[in-house]
Amino acid sequence: MDHRTEILDLRTALEVLRQTPGQLVETRVEVDPAAELSGVYRHVGAGGTVMRPTTVDGPAMLFHNVKGHPGCSVAIGVLASRARVASLFGCKKEELGHLVQACAAHPIQPVVITGPAPAQEVVHLASDPDFDLNRLIPAPTNTPLDAGPYITLGMCYATHPDTGRSDVTIHRMCIQSRDELSIFLQPGSRHIGAMAERATELGQPLPISVSIGVDPAIEVTACFEPPTTPLGFNELSIAGALRQRPVELVPCLTVKEHAIANAEYILEGEILPGSNHVVEDQNTRTGFAMPEFPGYNGPASHECWLLKVKAVTHRRNPIMQTCIGPSEEHVNMAGIPTEASILGMIDKALPGKVLNCYAHRSGGGKYMAVLQCRKTVHTDEGKQRQAALLAFSAFPELKHVILVDEDVDIFDTNDVLWAMNTRFQGDVDIITIPGVRCHPLDPSSNPACSPSIRDIGCSCKTIFDCTVPFDQKSRFHRASFLEVDPEKWLHG
Ligand code: MN
Repeated sequence: MDHRTEILDLRTALEVLRQTPGQLVETRVEVDPAAELSGVYRHVGAGGTVMRPTTVDGPAMLFHNVKGHPGCSVAIGVLASRARVASLFGCKKEELGHLVQACAAHPIQPVVITGPAPAQEVVHLASDPDFDLNRLIPAPTNTPLDAGPYITLGMCYATHPDTGRSDVTIHRMCIQSRDELSIFLQPGSRHIGAMAERATELGQPLPISVSIGVDPAIEVTACFEPPTTPLGFNELSIAGALRQRPVELVPCLTVKEHAIANAEYILEGEILPGSNHVVEDQNTRTGFAMPEFPGYNGPASHECWLLKVKAVTHRRNPIMQTCIGPSEEHVNMAGIPTEASILGMIDKALPGKVLNCYAHRSGGGKYMAVLQCRKTVHTDEGKQRQAALLAFSAFPELKHVILVDEDVDIFDTNDVLWAMNTRFQGDVDIITIPGVRCHPLDPSSNPACSPSIRDIGCSCKTIFDCTVPFDQKSRFHRASFLEVDPEKWLHG
């Protein structure tokens, strides 16, 4: 099977994992979606920035006996290993950034099919008095401090009221009542947030669909951000390029919008105009939202928007999909588009000077990038630092860039730190750019942490140049060994 072109949806992806040793654990032991499910997976495979102990590159899990939700399963950690994502995309793990960048450069637009789609086999209308999101959606409460049950992997799809251009983005959504979700759209945000703000100016609700349980290619590419995907760039077209086949959309039943046809669940609804005052923890008053990708409990927002749900449709025996915020799954979803964005910009400005990029797991895929640079002539000296500046421009939330030479394995942290230990001097190889807007969920991006920080979310962008100065290269040859194939000694 060619995994790149033959994976259609979550079920075909899970079937691939089922047939690969060590990639999927299925359990019929009952699990409570309230804190227990995430508590289990933190140990089994969360990785990333989650509290220790955890398992890095552990298997995905499929829970078939979810308390209070007979007939439903919950999948977690499908993307919580870079090697697993590479397998599901049909490439090597070192190639993911380049592959996804090439797809962003050659998008294939989605198509609309006539329904009913697989995701519309079972229909629940909010007008039905028995309708209750809490009963219909096995949404996990990730920790006992969460504001409530969260949809963490909902592909939110909406259309700009002026331009008619659509966008897919993942936002955290908390179940607030039988037919209401809070949806967190960062104020001044770039995609669906901008659409909700414009709809509010026009006094209109914003129709929206939320597709859950989809092809992993959609989950990764939905995380692209400007400038690679400015407002109006439908990221489903990148997933289409990845699979070399357009993503299929289906019309919603109750709102004028489309949804992903072969999802497991579709929620249909409207973001109500001017509704951005929802208190996320109004039902629990915990003060927190859920664990966020940097590894801390995110504060409950008082500025969420209200998403009024009109219908929930799903497959028979649907599979809810979820992730842990601070996990390797987030690293891959955020980080692979980050790598693609950085490589795309540097390839245009400095072709051939940066061989690869890794959005390191310790930054959740957003805060730290390691660039593998190549200096071949004396005028390449300094271009590595120019590449770092380009990386900050390609991905505005990036905080730290580590520069290494081409003989360093950027995916091996020990090797990167070896470069820092033997090729770096702290007084001349740290370049700081203070007071630049980065990301508000970094708790050190706070005026209390530096006099150069004037507002929460500003930070000091820093370059760690661990490359050898070009004129010193002859002193830095790494000890090399006789090239042999060790196999016959291992099995002889
Ligand atoms: Mn988007």
